[in-house]
Formats: sequence, C-alpha cells, structure tokens
Amino acid sequence: MSNVGEQYERLEAHRAVIGDGFQIRRAVPNRHRRMVGAWCFLDHAGPVDYEPGQGLSIGPHPHIGLQTFTWMIEGEVLHRDSLGCEQLIHPGQVNLMTAGKGISHSEESPTGRAGRFHAAQLWIALPDAERHREPDFRHYPNLPVIDRGGFRITVLAGACEGERSPAKVYTPIVGLDLSTRGRSRFELPLEPSFEHAVLTLEGAPALNGEILEPGTLLYLGTGRSFVELGSLAASRMLLIGGTPFGEEILLWWNFVARTPAEMEAAVRDWVDGQHFGKVHGARGKPLVAPDPGVLRLKGART
Ligand code: MN
Repeated sequence: MSNVGEQYERLEAHRAVIGDGFQIRRAVPNRHRRMVGAWCFLDHAGPVDYEPGQGLSIGPHPHIGLQTFTWMIEGEVLHRDSLGCEQLIHPGQVNLMTAGKGISHSEESPTGRAGRFHAAQLWIALPDAERHREPDFRHYPNLPVIDRGGFRITVLAGACEGERSPAKVYTPIVGLDLSTRGRSRFELPLEPSFEHAVLTLEGAPALNGEILEPGTLLYLGTGRSFVELGSLAASRMLLIGGTPFGEEILLWWNFVARTPAEMEAAVRDWVDGQHFGKVHGARGKPLVAPDPGVLRLKGART
C-alpha cells in the first residue's frame, strides 16, 4: 500500500444544539459520509466555560442498536442510566454504553458550580448479530497513552503501536486522541483495510501537509498504511477508523435500526415507559421523541 495519489474528502461539520441550548459541531453523519467504519455519529462539544446552573443538561432518553462512546477532554459529566449506573466522568476517561435492545440515560453537568466542558461523543453502530444484546455500561478510567514525536496518543478504541484500548466493541475499529503542546511531527501507522477520518478538535495541525482546522473532517478512505501528522503549535485531533461497516443502517433520533417499523416500535416503547426502564435522579425532563412518520415520508433515509 502506498500513499501515492492522495485522495481526501474535506467534509464540513454542521452546528447543532443538544440539551438546553448547548452548541456542538456534528461531523458524522455528514451529508456526504454517513459512517466511518462502525462509527456513525461524532459530536464535538466545546471547549466552553459555563456559569453555575448552566452546562450540559440532557434529560433521560432512550437508545437502541448502538454504543455511545464519551471521550472527556475537559470538565466533568454525570451519567445516569436505567441499569442503575451513576458515573461521573473526568478528563482522560471514556464512558461506553452499549444500548443493544434498549437502555435510557441522562447526561448532566455537576450542579452548583461553574465549569468548563470539552468532550466528544461518538456512536458506534452494532452489527446485526449484536444489536439485540442486553444493555451494558462501562467506565474506563485509564486508557493506554503513547508518546511519539511530540504527540501524546490516547488509544480510545482498538489498537495503536501495540497498545490496545480496553473498551469493549463489536467490530474492528480504532479511535485515537492525538494531542501536542508544540512543534511535533510523526508518522502514524494505519491499518490499510480500515477507512479513516480525522477531525481537529483544537489548533491547526497538518495531515500529510494538509492544514486541518476545527470543524473540518478529513476522510481518508481505505488503503493507507500510514499518515504523517505535524503541528507547529498546540493542537488536538481525533482519528476514527474501522472496517467499512457493510450493513445498511437507519439512524434516526437516538436509535440505530434497519427499518422504519423498528423505529416506530422504539418510539412506542419509549412513550409506553416500560421497555427502556427508568433513570433515577436525573434533573432534566425525559426527552420527547419526534414523530417517526417523517421516516416513511423521506423514504426511510435520514
Ligand atoms: Mn444519549
């Protein structure tokens, strides 16, 4: 494999609002790129400072068919779910919630104090054979960290340079946080059978000489055995990749499924209030599902 004949897709993240008016950048799904491996959703939130009583506030809501993957860069968020898990996540840690056949959770900033918030939340689509499994929640307080050429690489998912993340995933994927405090350069080995994409979270690093600013996702495709990363100043990137998923998925609201009928059933289950259990102690109100009728009007693709 070679990197001759460079082909990239530059994809612009779009602005969206989560919770009570929290601005984020949504890089995946993108109009031009629905997934990168099994990664089917990528929100970059912050960095932002907030006043006491503000911050992240996402009340109880359901998920099916996916894993939610939270990478905390600055600040804290309290996760509560219908399995009874209550977990405060700190910088450098990952929360991984496997929705499987159904779970509900809330995500809220700790109350009563000002704070800073900087995080990425990603979703990983579960393959058909795993998507009806029992729900699960894991907190990973320690992840492998590698120093190369001035970059600090945190192995969030999959493996890099012989170090493997403990995060339990169900398809071959990789997720790396690449941060540097100053001038740095190194060649990152890649798995050629994976497709990859890189999102800048801070600064203006370069990938194979291409400057990549926050808000732009650079899609690299498959067939690359390495990529050259460089930076002249402090910066941070998120690299995601994986085996092309190979299954058509339907992603709508907080659900990953295969058909509009499954989405309609999931909404009914949320309204009924049984299937997804209860989240105890959340401050925010449960989220109201949008009308799934729109799925049929749109021809089952969102
Ligand atoms: Mn969620």
